[in-house]
Amino acid sequence: MLLKKLTNTTACPRCGSGAENMDHLFRECPVSVSCTIFCCAL
Ligand SMILES: [Zn+2]
Repeated sequence: MLLKKLTNTTACPRCGSGAENMDHLFRECPVSVSCTIFCCAL
C-alpha cells in the first residue's frame, strides 16, 4: 500500500514538495536549483 501510494504520487522525491516534472526539477525545486547554481559557479 505504501509503495503503491509513493509510486502514484507525482511529488518531487528530492524536496518532497511540488510536482516531479522538468520545470520543477530545473527551475522550481530548491534542492536542484541550489545544486545547479553550485555547479554553474564552479
Ligand atoms: Zn523538488
